[in-house]
Amino acid sequence: MKIGTKAIHAGVHPDEATGAIMTPIYQTSTYVQDGVGKHKGYEYSRTQNPTRHALEKSIAALENAKHGACFGSGLSAIDCLIKILNPGDEVISTNDLYGGSYRIFKTIFEKYGIVFHFVDMLKVQNVEEMINSKTKMIWIETPTNPMMNIIDIKGMVSIAKGKDIMVCVDNTFATPYLQNPLDLGADVVMHSVTKYLGGHSDVVMGALVTSDEEIASEMYRIQNSSGGVTAPMDSFLVLRGIKTLHIRIQRHCENGEKIAKFLKNHSRVDKVYWPGFESHVNHEIAKNQMRGFGGMISFTLQGNRLEDALAIVKKVELFSLAESLGGVESLIGHPATMTHASIPKDVREQSGVVDSLIRLSVGIEDAEDLLEDLEQALSN
Ligand SMILES: *Cc1c(COP(=O)(O)O)cnc(C)c1O
Repeated sequence: MKIGTKAIHAGVHPDEATGAIMTPIYQTSTYVQDGVGKHKGYEYSRTQNPTRHALEKSIAALENAKHGACFGSGLSAIDCLIKILNPGDEVISTNDLYGGSYRIFKTIFEKYGIVFHFVDMLKVQNVEEMINSKTKMIWIETPTNPMMNIIDIKGMVSIAKGKDIMVCVDNTFATPYLQNPLDLGADVVMHSVTKYLGGHSDVVMGALVTSDEEIASEMYRIQNSSGGVTAPMDSFLVLRGIKTLHIRIQRHCENGEKIAKFLKNHSRVDKVYWPGFESHVNHEIAKNQMRGFGGMISFTLQGNRLEDALAIVKKVELFSLAESLGGVESLIGHPATMTHASIPKDVREQSGVVDSLIRLSVGIEDAEDLLEDLEQALSN
């Protein structure tokens, strides 16, 4: 089955009791049993819920995975995954990481004895050099937020092979429509479902998918033991959002390309970070592992002044100044003071998050209107 068909059909079946074509919102905490131990597969909604179950199957199918689990947020999904590790285990990740992922690694899990290394992942060799007998996980985010760096998933898989190292990919930016890390050899994919999978800026949710039976069994054990599950209503909303995933991402890509090119030719703009440009450092890898380049774009301004960036994010009218991304509406953000404020200045500047960096989540409005808005916001 191709991805558009899966987006609409995977995981969902007409309701057995009524024939309802849409999976009902099973707003229930518990399920009546016929006798002790005689139930219909559902005992308690932390452990399992039919609406959530349909969504978990849908997201797993989109990523060509056997198992999926949904959580109350993307970070709650990461929380579950890191809990598979033990004190002393080491994780290698990128120095250009979503701020919240950096924060949970550094301020929550380091306390429990898990060691995190942040390296420049543009070169596979930098990761290879950090691997030792304690390395248990390579954590990849690609494209990265907000620098749009592309990390070579196959390259990372090749250095982890045969070493008992889990390769995990935060696939939030690419979505399963543009990239399927498990097909490239990764062990686990994580999503902030809040973003493109939900797609309508109305839900906070996370997901993990895997085809590895051992990881899956730990994932479900921790999901049930720690309890960071998502709600039936939210599961319903995301099931609905996913039905248009393929159409939405096509338009995000088209609009993204138009806006990236516009910015590249604008006299006030210095650098434009978008993996679709041939000049992008890892454009070739992006072309190999992705099916399109998406609608996330970052750019810097000539002169690199903080006040210029702050003026522009205020002057836009159609783009809304907000954190988050991946919804149908266009958003604009200033990473240094917003999403990446929790990362020390010297650390963030090293990875390119300078004062004039502006990030766009290009929505699916008409491109002409978006371009017009950027034009007026960039005019002096
Ligand atoms: C938003 C985001 C997260 C965190 O997800 P939440 O749903 O906000 O908890 C993780 N990784 C990336 C790349 C994100 O954009």
